Amino acid sequence: MVHAPPRPVPGQPPVRVNLYSDTQTRPTAAMKQAMMAAEVGDEQAGLDPTVDALCARMATLLGTEAAMFLPSGTMCNRIALLTHCRPGEGVLAHETAHILTAEGGGAAALGGVQIMPLPGARGQFDVPTLEAALLPRARYAVAQTLVAVEQTSNLGGGSVWESAALRAVADWAHGHGMATHMDGARLLNAVVAAGVPAAEMAAGYDSVWLDFTKGLGAPLGAVLCGSADFIDRAWVWKQRLGGALRQAGICAAACLYALDHHVARLAEDHANAQALARELAQIEGIAVEAPETNLVFFDTHATGLQATELAARLRAQGVLISAMGAWRMRACTHLDVDRGQVELAATAIRDVIADRR
Ligand SMILES: *Cc1c(COP(=O)(O)O)cnc(C)c1O
Repeated sequence: MVHAPPRPVPGQPPVRVNLYSDTQTRPTAAMKQAMMAAEVGDEQAGLDPTVDALCARMATLLGTEAAMFLPSGTMCNRIALLTHCRPGEGVLAHETAHILTAEGGGAAALGGVQIMPLPGARGQFDVPTLEAALLPRARYAVAQTLVAVEQTSNLGGGSVWESAALRAVADWAHGHGMATHMDGARLLNAVVAAGVPAAEMAAGYDSVWLDFTKGLGAPLGAVLCGSADFIDRAWVWKQRLGGALRQAGICAAACLYALDHHVARLAEDHANAQALARELAQIEGIAVEAPETNLVFFDTHATGLQATELAARLRAQGVLISAMGAWRMRACTHLDVDRGQVELAATAIRDVIADRR
């Protein structure tokens, strides 16, 4: 994965469209107002009323007993794996999973956990694939103790797992004595796209979390949910990793604001992604993967321009898009991108490709 972060480059024009990532959103004025008005207390001691309100709301939304506020999604994944698994144990996950490709090797470095990559289209896998990866319970074998899914699958193209497929994976895992984990960084994108309630999608998952810094537009924060017992055990790791917080309600207020105001509008991001995909499909040499949510992946092979080269030429036009492989690019729609900017980006891509020689 190339995915160089969008640092300002001296002499380059200002950014006109930022499709680099949905993490690029800035808190709105109204969100900042909500943050300033937050009632706060010592989060580590369980005395921050705004954090408590967020956790209660998230537990209800995801159909779990308890929840825990954390600074980032990566920390949710880290703590969930550390809580579910002991060193040397195996986690079955898709080969493109964030826990495997994009967390600095944290599962191995901090948990001694072995992630066992599974193949499958669109970042997803099924029960026959799990069966094929199952090791015997033997003295020599890795003890496989957790199955992890991503909803939506990021590198799978922002693809949405169907509830029935999620349930089949969870049932299989539990039937084999394994726990289940859902990386729900963009779970609400899936909920809005599929029209299926979050609790229904998360049913059967022993831990599940949601990121507030992607399309929901908060400056930081993610909430990890599970049974009361799981969250109690997860708190030990939160403390050990230095993730226990103080007056965190100021940030939880932004997350509550996002739940009230930034969920239904994800449909606009999805419509913008569709519009961008339609425009890109018209450009000779670009092969677009049909978007299901807010991520638009496309292949540049037939243009002769490698992804990093195209990204650099677009940057010079004030358009930020990330290179996700030698020939694969990702454009991400979000709160701070409107339809006009999508059109502008499509025009810039068409022009850069037309002028490539
Ligand atoms: C962004 C992302 C994460 C990590 O979340 P952060 O809040 O950036 O740490 C984990 N999983 C997936 C699928 C993501 O897209």
